Amino acid sequence: MIKAVRGTRDLLPPDTETWNRVEAKVRDVFERYNFHEIRTPVFEDTALFARGVGEETDIVSKEMFTWEDKARAQSEKSQQLTLRPENTAGVVRAYIEHKLGQSGALQKLYYIGPQFRRERPQKGRYRQFFQIGAEVIGPPTSGSESPSRDAEIIEMLATLLEDVGLTGWTLFINSVGDANCRPAYNEALRVALATVKDRMCGDCQRRAETNPLRVLDCKVPEDQPIIDALPKIGDYLDDACRAHFTAVRAMLDKVGVPYTVNPRMVRGLDYYTRTTFEFTHGELGAQSAVLGGGRYDGLSEALDGPKAPGIGFAIGEDRLIMALQASQPAAVLTIDAYVAPLGPNTNAEALGICRKLRRQGLKVELGDESFRLKKSFEAAERAGARFIVICGENEVTNNEFSVKHLATGEQVSVARAELAIYIRNHGVKKPGGEHTAPDDLQ
Ligand code: AMP
Repeated sequence: MIKAVRGTRDLLPPDTETWNRVEAKVRDVFERYNFHEIRTPVFEDTALFARGVGEETDIVSKEMFTWEDKARAQSEKSQQLTLRPENTAGVVRAYIEHKLGQSGALQKLYYIGPQFRRERPQKGRYRQFFQIGAEVIGPPTSGSESPSRDAEIIEMLATLLEDVGLTGWTLFINSVGDANCRPAYNEALRVALATVKDRMCGDCQRRAETNPLRVLDCKVPEDQPIIDALPKIGDYLDDACRAHFTAVRAMLDKVGVPYTVNPRMVRGLDYYTRTTFEFTHGELGAQSAVLGGGRYDGLSEALDGPKAPGIGFAIGEDRLIMALQASQPAAVLTIDAYVAPLGPNTNAEALGICRKLRRQGLKVELGDESFRLKKSFEAAERAGARFIVICGENEVTNNEFSVKHLATGEQVSVARAELAIYIRNHGVKKPGGEHTAPDDLQ
């Protein structure tokens, strides 16, 4: 038997109901904050990630699905391609390629889609996973550097999580400085690491030389006390970065979004500057980060684009839904009515009724005339139907259909023309839970 590849999974009903509900809510939030959707390709030139995300990051050094796309004609060159491990680099590439900065307006873009990383699969960590993300990017004249952008995007996330129904999250923020002040911090880290790195894991020993900041991403338990004693980035911020971070925090305080400053949080991608943030949730266990993001003021230039400061985030949709499902009952699939043809040559008549009800916006399932009545009832129950509509020869002749409310067992006869109104208005589940009994015809 061929199975789904390790680290990938099928999303099945009723879980997909939750995914769709979350995505609809999220789109609604993005719309209110004036974000617009962008869809970039699932694979890109490998160089985009090598340069955009950073050669020394875990993602680029070990986790990318990369292949050589061989030339098919002499006029073509073969190319190294990679399944996108994240979407920010793709969005910034598109921003540069389509000259989105030319209008001078701030670009507020969001995406929802699969990402691919060759990580060791475990709960909450997949090789194909979904991210919901957004980026605010534009020329400096558009206000893209302002701490307002950072605070607004973090505040939006608090609203978004509330709207999808996630409570109990914790927000960590930090500033990782910029190209002006980070070199001094990197140097301080390098010096401090020189005396302790021999006691650290192999990755840390290498990174201590190549990219000391990445040592702070290390998850090896034995290394943690050593890392905690290393110099803190907060002590190395220059005046501009310090003022920026202070302003972001003041705005979050003002709008009442609670946060904790975590000086070790540098995030696993090289492009971050100044503000970085992460929302975690207790239900997620070891993989506790629901989302992460930060500012990336130099990324566009690193990809040969114009100066275009920006800030963005990516929500791990798989983890968001896992956290939601831990606190909410599973979605139950329901329909308004099950139309049961009864007796020979009633299928067509039943399909006609379904068509009419569906065109009135009702959720309807069609049975089959080969079913006995008992089997139709069982199928209706299984489908989560509120009503079963019996479509037998007598009913067709009289233009009146037996409609039974499955929860109460009450049965009435309803004229063909009244069916949709009756089903819509009767036996509707009240917010309190109980079904109302169908009462008299309108
Ligand atoms: P990153 O792009 O690494 O900053 O990740 C942003 C968010 O995506 C994380 O906070 C996770 O929620 C989610 N995420 C990252 N990698 C995975 C993965 N392999 N499986 C599931 N979710 C992931």
